[in-house]
Amino acid sequence: MAVSSEIRTEALVSGAVELGVGLTAAQARGFVRYYAELVHWNERVNLTRITDWDAAVMRHFLDSLSVVRALSPDTLSGGAFVDVGSGGGFPGIPLKLAFGGMRATLLDATAKKTAFLSHAVETLGLRDVSVCTGRAEDAAHSADMRERFDAAFARAVADTAALAELTLPFVRVGGVVVLHKKADIAAELERAQAAIETLGGRLRAALPVSIAGLDDRALVVLDKVRPTPQRYPRRAGMPAKRPLT
Ligand code: SAH
Repeated sequence: MAVSSEIRTEALVSGAVELGVGLTAAQARGFVRYYAELVHWNERVNLTRITDWDAAVMRHFLDSLSVVRALSPDTLSGGAFVDVGSGGGFPGIPLKLAFGGMRATLLDATAKKTAFLSHAVETLGLRDVSVCTGRAEDAAHSADMRERFDAAFARAVADTAALAELTLPFVRVGGVVVLHKKADIAAELERAQAAIETLGGRLRAALPVSIAGLDDRALVVLDKVRPTPQRYPRRAGMPAKRPLT
């Protein structure tokens, strides 16, 4: 694709280093290919407002990779994660591009988005990735997905109280939930405290993400400390409409 040959990957590679992530030249080319597919599909399917390479590097790729701060070496080398409301693939695809040993499940309720995700996975030659169309409220009750993951992620999907219900049920006890949030998160965390506890989670930290150009972000990290009671998540729509208090 013409766009690929003009793109420079230095900012991606050096930004990743700041996050403690080493990318080979082949991996950096994977990001360029992903970007080209994202921009191309974005003409038909609404995947992102960001179509400029430099901005995509900061706000999509490095932002996605920032979750590594909260993950153990075991998880990064061979753990299983679910990306809830993956949309155009964030944070799941950048993570999988950088940490090929992880087993990924990309979940989204919208079939047009999962069509793109399947296409991207195939085009990028990513292995051990499954793409699921469906709502987290339903998927989290299926035996092959409930409490099966070492980690769950969600970026830009809902507020923390709702996300606790949409992510914690997927994670095994001892696993972790990492949510991308704005840095100014104290009040939202306060409101989510009861939900986190009810669902078997415990707030570990709200980690500020500070790499150049990404200083307004935080990662909310929840540890899964007890099994999630069987009645959660509630039926579709409830976690966001009536967050647990
Ligand atoms: N994580 C991506 C997309 C964010 S947009 C990013 O950061 O760019 C939110 C996405 O979540 C949408 O694609 C929407 O279809 C999906 N979504 C919202 N609620 C959901 C639910 N309950 N279950 C599964 N997907 C959901």
